[in-house]
This record gives sequence, structure tokens and C-alpha cells, in this order.
Amino acid sequence: MPCPTLEDLLSGKSGNHAVHCRDCKALLDAYAEVDSVFESAFSGISSPAGLSAAVYAGIFPIGFKLRPSPVPEFLDLIGWTAVLAIAAIVLPRFILPLSSIWAVFG
Ligand SMILES: [Zn+2]
Repeated sequence: MPCPTLEDLLSGKSGNHAVHCRDCKALLDAYAEVDSVFESAFSGISSPAGLSAAVYAGIFPIGFKLRPSPVPEFLDLIGWTAVLAIAAIVLPRFILPLSSIWAVFG
């Protein structure tokens, strides 16, 4: 049976594969060791209070506005042009018979 990926091992999708596989158990142990080292090394570190606002200000400068895409408007134009073209073709075929009917009653 092939070894699952690390993501599957961590999420539990692999079942109890690591219990029976020495390589996967070693991988999970190494992962746990690295995780604990990182937690102990960076546990007292937090980002400065204004970092989030500064990052957002760098991404979206003051006065910057996202312009809406012109694609929907262009698709509207194409759609309404098609509707008008169909109406220009179909309506004269119905208007002529109606005028002949009105001529009978008129
Ligand atoms: Zn394995």
C-alpha cells in the first residue's frame, strides 16, 4: 500500500496508516517536532498594531477605486442588438398580415 501524502496524514484521511508504517510515523514525528519548535520560538511575537492597516493602505492607496469591468455592459449591448435585429426581422412579417386583417374590418 503506497504511503499517503503529508496532508492526508495530518487530516486523518489516511486512517491509521502511520501506526503501521515506520516512514510515515517518522514523518509525523518530525512534523510535530518542527511544529513545537516554531511554536516555542515565535510564541511571544505578534505583529505591530498598525501593520494590517499599513498593508491594506499599500495595496489600495487613498482614492483608489476599483473600476467595474466593462464586459457586462458589452454583453448587454450584444444582447440588446440581437433582440432588436430579431424584432426587425420578425415584426414586419406579423405587421403586414395584421394590416390586411384590419383592412377587412376597416
Ligand atoms: Zn507510510
